[in-house]
Amino acid sequence: MKVKFAKTAGFCMGVRRAMEMVLTEANRGDDPLFTFGPLIHNNQVLNLLASKGVQPVDDLDGLQTGRIVIRAHGIPPQKRQALRETGLKIIDATCPKVARVQAIIRYHTKKGYTAVIVGDDDHAEVTGLMGYSKGQVHVIQSAEGVSSLPHVDRIFVVAQTTQNEENYRKVVKALKERYPDLLVFDTICDATRQRQGEVRSLAGHVDALVVVGGYHSGNTQRLVEVSRSAGIPTFHVETEKDLNKEKLREMELIAVTAGASTPNWMIKNVGRELEGIQGRREASLFRWSRKAFKFLVLSNLAVASGAFCFAYAVTILSERKPDFIFPFLTFLYIYAMHAFNRFLDKGASAYSDPERAAFLKKYKYLLITMGIAAIVTALVLSYSIGLMTFLALSTLSMLGIIYSIPLVPESIRHKAPYSKIKDIPGSRTLSEALAWAVIITILPLLEVNHIVWPLTIVSILTVFFMGYIRSAFFDIIRVQGDLIVGSETLPITLGEKRTLLLLKMLIFLSAIILCGAPIFGLVNSFSFLFLVPLFTLALCLVAYERSWIYPDIAFEALVEGNFFLAGLLAVIWQAM
Ligand code: SF4
Repeated sequence: MKVKFAKTAGFCMGVRRAMEMVLTEANRGDDPLFTFGPLIHNNQVLNLLASKGVQPVDDLDGLQTGRIVIRAHGIPPQKRQALRETGLKIIDATCPKVARVQAIIRYHTKKGYTAVIVGDDDHAEVTGLMGYSKGQVHVIQSAEGVSSLPHVDRIFVVAQTTQNEENYRKVVKALKERYPDLLVFDTICDATRQRQGEVRSLAGHVDALVVVGGYHSGNTQRLVEVSRSAGIPTFHVETEKDLNKEKLREMELIAVTAGASTPNWMIKNVGRELEGIQGRREASLFRWSRKAFKFLVLSNLAVASGAFCFAYAVTILSERKPDFIFPFLTFLYIYAMHAFNRFLDKGASAYSDPERAAFLKKYKYLLITMGIAAIVTALVLSYSIGLMTFLALSTLSMLGIIYSIPLVPESIRHKAPYSKIKDIPGSRTLSEALAWAVIITILPLLEVNHIVWPLTIVSILTVFFMGYIRSAFFDIIRVQGDLIVGSETLPITLGEKRTLLLLKMLIFLSAIILCGAPIFGLVNSFSFLFLVPLFTLALCLVAYERSWIYPDIAFEALVEGNFFLAGLLAVIWQAM
């Protein structure tokens, strides 16, 4: 079955921020950690948080020590005061967009205005908003509620941030007829607007829409309403187990979207289950080609082949005699290291990339055998090149394997800040980029007598930067899983925004090097062609940042595609 993921599916900014704050706290200290009410409306996420010791509380009685998180929906100021009096350390995860609505209500009710909130009166966000009104507030759900409002002179209206846009427009229209001087605040958040807009735009293009999210989640329910009113056959599921496979079998193309409180791993689990359903109208050729494509990506053959192409392109950039031996060595090494480290890192994969986790489980023995075969072949090949190459590759392989293995004895592990190399913040990105730079640019130089250093330095920097950008970019995509298992990757240490900024700066720096080096006669003009994969890599970054594309397996292949592109350009250059 063909599955199309909505670009906007997944955590919104506010929920992601709250989750990051809670998980960072959970990974940080041993003090009891509470959330004031359930953090989000998603049972699976709440169960996961409970497994990490995070307990939701509604009642502050008896709580004196520990930390408490105010959830993204916010709380009334009176409750905030009560929290302060407990002595607990407060971590405020109120979404900034909700905080803006709270500020609007506080400011205008102080000036004597009456507030109208369009939303669900029993929703936590609305309860919090009402607390800022000093009692001059009315909550209505639809335009019908306008007639029940009292006569007032000064009135304004805000929406619960996850309101249905059309409904809000109708309420505002009805309010304006009754209160011509009404002040209107557009407080529906962009995340909600974009999600609902994308659902409407799917009408007529897909056979059905599966909405993934908690049955009690208001914004998920609203997506279901929007989809049904747009005439799309809609299925609301909490997990993949709730899918009605018999009905879905009739469809050809299914879109998947999700509420703002649904984590990526749940969306991907549903997508994987849907793809496994054999549609009645599905051609077997399509089915098999999709399986082959996934095998290439999930088995790490795609990343290793991309590294092969990239290494070949660097051979041309470095003005070495084109050969396939070192690119093949790169292929074998990158394949083996990815295979071993994926197994050692499968805890995080279960949350950031459940399809890969299931694949690793299914093909465990085949993949391990292939990994061992790859590293043994690489060592034999390196020995045939020369002793220095063999020793360098052996050291590199050793480092690659011990990277994920605990080096501190279990009995004293709790005292050591880091027990594995990969626990050191940002080490994954740095190690991967260094390994790419060494295997692709340094190894081929170990047995040669004369090294042209300016040329070599340009090659090393280009490979290091592109390897670093690739690795950090995947860390950004997998941040949810890494946070859950407590990995200290670059985006967790720096934050997603700052990591993206850093990557853009590295792209800019690489572009300057690639443009400047041939101008100063340091490398040949193939350097200019290298700007193409750098540019397409930058495009992938922007596409992710702006949610133009959902980060699924196809997106992963697209990122790896930049390294294939470098190789293709090298072949074209050679042929010219
Ligand atoms: S839906 Fe919007 S307002 Fe609500 S938590 Fe998410 S980003 Fe914030």
